[in-house]
Amino acid sequence: MDKSSIQKLLIANRGEIAVRIIRAARDLGIETVQAHSEADTESRAVLMADEAAVIGPPAAAKSYLNVEAILKAAKDTGADAIHPGYGFLAENAAFADAVADAGLIFVGPSGDTIRLMGDKAAARAEAKKAGVPTVPGSDGVIEDMEAAAALAEEIGFPVMIKAAAGGGGRGIRIAHDAEEFRTLAPQASSEAKAAFGDGGIYIEKVIERARHIEVQVLGDGEDVVHFYERECSLQRRRQKVWEEAPSALLKEDVRRELCSSAVALAKAVHYKGAGTIEYLYDDETGAFYFIEMNTRIQVEHPVTEMICGVDLVGEMIAIAGGGKLRVSQDQIIREGHAIEVRLNAEDPSNNFMPFPGVVGELLTPDGPGVRFDHMLYPGYAIPPFYDSLLGKLIVWAEDRDKALMRLKRALGELKIDGLPTTAPLFEALLESDELRECAVHTRWLEPWLDKNLDLIRQKGGSDE
Ligand code: ADP
Ligand code: ADP
Ligand code: MG
Repeated sequence: MDKSSIQKLLIANRGEIAVRIIRAARDLGIETVQAHSEADTESRAVLMADEAAVIGPPAAAKSYLNVEAILKAAKDTGADAIHPGYGFLAENAAFADAVADAGLIFVGPSGDTIRLMGDKAAARAEAKKAGVPTVPGSDGVIEDMEAAAALAEEIGFPVMIKAAAGGGGRGIRIAHDAEEFRTLAPQASSEAKAAFGDGGIYIEKVIERARHIEVQVLGDGEDVVHFYERECSLQRRRQKVWEEAPSALLKEDVRRELCSSAVALAKAVHYKGAGTIEYLYDDETGAFYFIEMNTRIQVEHPVTEMICGVDLVGEMIAIAGGGKLRVSQDQIIREGHAIEVRLNAEDPSNNFMPFPGVVGELLTPDGPGVRFDHMLYPGYAIPPFYDSLLGKLIVWAEDRDKALMRLKRALGELKIDGLPTTAPLFEALLESDELRECAVHTRWLEPWLDKNLDLIRQKGGSDE
């Protein structure tokens, strides 16, 4: 990769993704500044970065979402670029604009692109325009409740009510009939206003028994390439917990169609940076429907890195620094199978209750085909103020069966004392025949959890 024009990168995020970004920057010879809240002074990212700058008290609203403090930290430390990671300000168009207005490089697309594609209702319209199939639903945000109720009736219940500014599985409601719709829609709108600062809602037909399949794209503002798909159907409360690449049962012709539709859409908006186009895929009919675009790096990007041998975070930094795509589509070759599991500081046998604590003894898995992206070290006190993601365990092998075997081996090597984690969930899941056969969909995991609580408890117990 060509050396980027960026000299010093400020990381406006925390946790495992901050560590990941520091590594990518170092591999490019770029200096790093870790912006952090007062609660994160002892974080691994702060300890690793070349410099650190406090941006406010623990509450994210006063630190990781504090645009002025972040820009001041960049100025004070002489950083010339800002990486937003995921979550927080990563898909905030006003932030991207403010970074550019301050004469700094935002590692991501322009504010205008975020406005277009980060607004989920607007993105649906863009997808339609680019000829990408969308889920039947409303055109844009709902302006008139009665017209929306009539439309919901027409497309058929159940329908999903979604917040245009939503993310992370939040801001979604399901209405089963017109009466429920009339109750839930205004509620959803006022909640979205409170949670995301934007009350815009739209509706979509519920696609039953769908798989979540998404395509990784990378653009330089002119050209766009894809790095194939990820399957993220294992979800709890619409949040991904286990991701794979490739999607094991996807037929080659559908894969081709899916990937080229993602490229067409990204090209239509002159996409610059790393992005993901998310779809729902119906196994039975072979139909796929666009649901949204994430205009940032995603949590599950490593499975793609493992099968394609690419550093996506490094590439997005290089492109932000003025570089062009350095790979053409025919140079992107995928090989083998990768699986990622999300390790959260949550107790899976107690309704996934968040459980921040102090890390005791720590043994991390490694060896062939194993990667552990995390923020842990022995003695680290996990702050209770943020997302419970501790890290991601990623494995790669020649095929899916071998990757499953390797995941079992890696989970066996992992030991995190001092707090419960979601590791026992994955040890239990490895015993599921349905998962082994990939016979899953987005609503498969939740009932499985209810039925297998004892198995998860048992796995948690044998971990001690
Ligand atoms: P991914 O596909 O990368 O998992 P998610 O949509 O699950 O994407 O979001 C990744 C992270 O960002 C999660 O930690 C999630 O909680 C957070 N996040 C995403 N969008 C928002 C939002 N609009 N508001 C608050 N947090 C968000
Ligand atoms: P977010 O922005 O929170 O990530 P998404 O629109 O990507 O929201 O949807 C999150 C998840 O909700 C999907 O992965 C899927 O499991 C479920 N979902 C979303 N839209 C639909 C739909 N129309 N039908 C069925 N499930 C859906
Ligand atoms: Mg999504």
